[in-house]
Amino acid sequence: MAKKNKMLVVESAEELQVIIKEHKKSKKKIGFTPTLGALHEGHATLIQRSKRENDIVVCSIFVNPTQFNESSDLKKYPRTFIADKKLLERIGCDILFFPSDKEVYPNGTDYAVKVNLDGLDKRMEGAFRPGHFEGVVQVVHRLLEIVKPHKLYMGQKDFQQFTIIQKMIDKLKIKTKLVVCPIKREKDGLAMSSRNSRLSKSIRKKATILHKTLKTVKSKIHLETPEDLCKFAQIKMDIVDFKPEYFIIIDGYSLKPIRSFSDTDYAVACTAVWAGDVRLIDNMILKP
Ligand code: AMP
Repeated sequence: MAKKNKMLVVESAEELQVIIKEHKKSKKKIGFTPTLGALHEGHATLIQRSKRENDIVVCSIFVNPTQFNESSDLKKYPRTFIADKKLLERIGCDILFFPSDKEVYPNGTDYAVKVNLDGLDKRMEGAFRPGHFEGVVQVVHRLLEIVKPHKLYMGQKDFQQFTIIQKMIDKLKIKTKLVVCPIKREKDGLAMSSRNSRLSKSIRKKATILHKTLKTVKSKIHLETPEDLCKFAQIKMDIVDFKPEYFIIIDGYSLKPIRSFSDTDYAVACTAVWAGDVRLIDNMILKP
């Protein structure tokens, strides 16, 4: 039986750069998946795809302080390094990059990546989580600078996030191809998320309302207008312990709300809902 390679855990950005350079010299393709840790099977699908499409698979675990607009959310974010390491070893990740804040931001966090995102960062999550996408762009830009992968793997789960990162890659002409992977769901339809572990038992049970509502909306796109469907969805998810923050049907390229389904060939429903004190997001492509 072939011996499995041991996963390298690298904490230094400089050391990682040296290792990657060596791999690139021997013409190895590098696939990269950035995460905040508390890994689940949703993350695993990204890394497994990266493994199929590359020679060397890198995953980072970094709870990036600059993308949390609420310090309590940053504090409460689950940190499960030992279990994460086990999961990554099981699926054959080659390198786990586990840097400190100092490694990622050696000159401090007070700088912004200068890129015009054409307003993509101002809507939906951007409107409710001020500063969030500045932090996401800052950290992904920095991680790409360190890893310089051929391919970057992100999830459709964070629809606005991957759309913004694609925009950043295009505008800054970064030589990395973004690969977007479908949303991995629990058996009952709830999108897998590190935050799900914070749901109480009874709220977890009811959290299927997000996926159910998205599916119902999708089934009605030939019958109702986007505006009416958004109203319907908000009411449907307004149940005890749940508070919908937004439900929007957008054009998947511009992220602008649409008035009619004939306005676009790429319609997406996006939602954020407070489930108790846990904020859940989900989305579904309605068209095509
Ligand atoms: P996070 O650790 O939450 O920042 O997620 C890291 C990456 O995993 C992001 O690109 C997410 O979109 C992706 N991801 C998170 N949850 C899922 C899921 N349920 N299915 C697919 N991808 C996911």
